[in-house]
Amino acid sequence: MPLTSFQQPTEPEGFLKKELFITKEAIRERVVALASRISADYQGKEPVMVGVLNGVVIFFADLVREISIPVKMDFIRAASYGSRMDSCGSVTFTKDVELSIEGQDLILVEDIVDTGLTLARILEKLGERAPRSIRTCALIDKQERRSVSISIDYCGFTVEEGFIVGYGLDCREAYRQLPDIYILR
Ligand code: 5GP
Repeated sequence: MPLTSFQQPTEPEGFLKKELFITKEAIRERVVALASRISADYQGKEPVMVGVLNGVVIFFADLVREISIPVKMDFIRAASYGSRMDSCGSVTFTKDVELSIEGQDLILVEDIVDTGLTLARILEKLGERAPRSIRTCALIDKQERRSVSISIDYCGFTVEEGFIVGYGLDCREAYRQLPDIYILR
């Protein structure tokens, strides 16, 4: 059956209203800028980019394709939110990195850093495996509820508050496929 024009999914019943927050053009501009900084900073090296599943997949795929040096890729999955919009404070790992990272330059790539607990736990866990260096990259640094001090070396956007969806980010598994970023009101 031929495909007709693409239709945006409608708002699932009972969901908050979504408001356009960051356009796909603005996202693209930042992704290209971050990739160019990473390519320059890691000239002559082959860093291991570790994406934090699931929300990072679209950002990660766009970012690595703009990086001009060789990189290795792996993923880790940390669950801290379940299906709620509030952090429950504890982080559990449901998928580990499979590459050997000892002596490697790691770049941890997150979709969004909120309290910072997830990134802090991942840094602690991967740090035990003696990588040569670890840096962090996040599409969005949301500072409203930061509870641990985390340095984000490569940051796409800084946001003060709000719950964000689209471009990989979900609310109860909806909205991940949207090319732009929205805020739920
Ligand atoms: P943290 O441990 O920093 O509090 O939370 C990190 C994780 O919480 C992110 O990887 C993401 O899955 C989820 N999260 C935090 N804030 C938001 C948000 O505004 N929107 C969505 N969709 N997820 C969020």
